[in-house]
Amino acid sequence: MIDRLPDRLDLIATADAGRVLKGSIALAKLERVLPALHSDQGELQVELELGKDPDGTRYLAGTIRGTVGLQCQRCLDAMDLSLDLEFRLGIVQSQAEIASLHERYEPMLVGSEPTAIADIVSDEVLLALPLVPTHSDNRECQEFVKAYQPPQPEQRDNPFAMLAALKQKPQ
Ligand SMILES: [Zn+2]
Repeated sequence: MIDRLPDRLDLIATADAGRVLKGSIALAKLERVLPALHSDQGELQVELELGKDPDGTRYLAGTIRGTVGLQCQRCLDAMDLSLDLEFRLGIVQSQAEIASLHERYEPMLVGSEPTAIADIVSDEVLLALPLVPTHSDNRECQEFVKAYQPPQPEQRDNPFAMLAALKQKPQ
C-alpha cells in the first residue's frame, strides 16, 4: 500500500508490478470537473488498485469517495453531492486491444507518457455527475426555505416540531 497519490503514473509498469495506491486529491486539481462545480474547496479520497488478471489483462480498479458542491438547477443554490464511485478499467495501448477487451472492463487507453491521476479521477467524477443537478427533495431548495414561515414562533427552535408540521401537511 502506497499512502499517497503521485501526480502521474506509468499505468502499464504499475499494473505489471501490482500496486495499491491511496490518498486524497484536491478538487482544485480536477481542471475538467471545475466548470461543473459550485466550489473548488475540498478533496476526494481515492484508492487505486493496479494489477493483472489471470487472463493477462492489466486493470485499474478504484474507488472515489467524497463530496462535491454543485449548483441546484431548480433553486440555483449550492448543493452537496456525495460521491461513492467504484470503477474497473482495462488498461490498453491500442484500438486493437480495446476490441479484444473483455466486456467487464471499460477501456482505458494509455500512451507512452505517464497518465495523470487527476485525469483518471476527473473522467470518473464527470461520468457520475447528474446532467441537471437538483436538490433531491425540493423542500431543500432555497425558494422554499424563503417562502416557508414557521406557523408558531416557539416551534422555530424545535426541528421535531417542524418535521411534525411538515408531516401533517396534506399531500
Ligand atoms: Zn434546490
